[in-house]
Amino acid sequence: MNNKKGKKPVKKSIKYRYLVQLLFFVLIAAIAVNKTLVETGGGVAWLSTASLHAICPFGGVVTLYELVTQGDLIQRIHLSSLVLMGLVFTLALVAGPVFCGWICPLGSVQEWFSRLGRRIFKKNFNQFVPRRLDGFLRYGRYLVLAWVVYATARSASLVFSNYDPYQALFSLWEEDLAVPGAIILAVTLLGALFVERPWCKYACPYGALLGLFNKVRIFKIRRNPGTCISCKQCDRACPMNIQVSETEVVKDVQCISCLACTSESQCPVADTVNLQIRSFRKEES
Ligand code: SF4
Ligand code: SF4
Repeated sequence: MNNKKGKKPVKKSIKYRYLVQLLFFVLIAAIAVNKTLVETGGGVAWLSTASLHAICPFGGVVTLYELVTQGDLIQRIHLSSLVLMGLVFTLALVAGPVFCGWICPLGSVQEWFSRLGRRIFKKNFNQFVPRRLDGFLRYGRYLVLAWVVYATARSASLVFSNYDPYQALFSLWEEDLAVPGAIILAVTLLGALFVERPWCKYACPYGALLGLFNKVRIFKIRRNPGTCISCKQCDRACPMNIQVSETEVVKDVQCISCLACTSESQCPVADTVNLQIRSFRKEES
């Protein structure tokens, strides 16, 4: 249903997602700023002063690897990152990479830049990369994941933090801001003006890992072909360019559980695309 200006009203579930994204961004930014202030004699005592490493669930992944192979924790890693990793993985098992679509501040910032890109390029936005090249580039995040795990395990230190745009985003005001990370952040945000979530699609090692849960998650995005009118609104709404209208059950490793394709958001037909519990009959895809 369109309003007077021809724009679709934002539905409730999508408003909740925007709100959750904003809340997590503000929370993590506040913790990062507070840590800097406390180090310089200011800040507020009641707010956490944890380092970014302590609130980064990906740190838990490399720590776990180190624990299994060496029986030791990575330098500068906090146990809290292991706990966070457990929570994020459990959530992914239930409903896919919810962390990517709802929580990750780097994902949210890319989306905010992409809104500007969408205004500039309209229907061409998110369609610039030829499909074959796009498919090829999406393997890039598995290469990054392999390198991060290998390099971290070899050095027993968080080598990726120097290249990590997430770290750079919340260290922009720090004297020891890592230049490679800052450059990658700048390229990512520039890219987000043309392509939705370029870091998530092509380079994020954590997204690569969480995306695998789309194959086995309990609640999946399901399309009812019986009521679908083949308008392809769901395909156009998907930030990750997944062809929802051509499948009954989304198992694509790139899905970020944003729910933009569902009948609660862009699909115009009620109860046609939904997040539903896994059925135990044989699934077609
Ligand atoms: S398939 Fe749906 S839930 Fe998954 S990324 Fe695309 S729009 Fe979001
Ligand atoms: S938006 Fe809904 S009705 Fe349109 S193609 Fe997708 S599932 Fe079918």
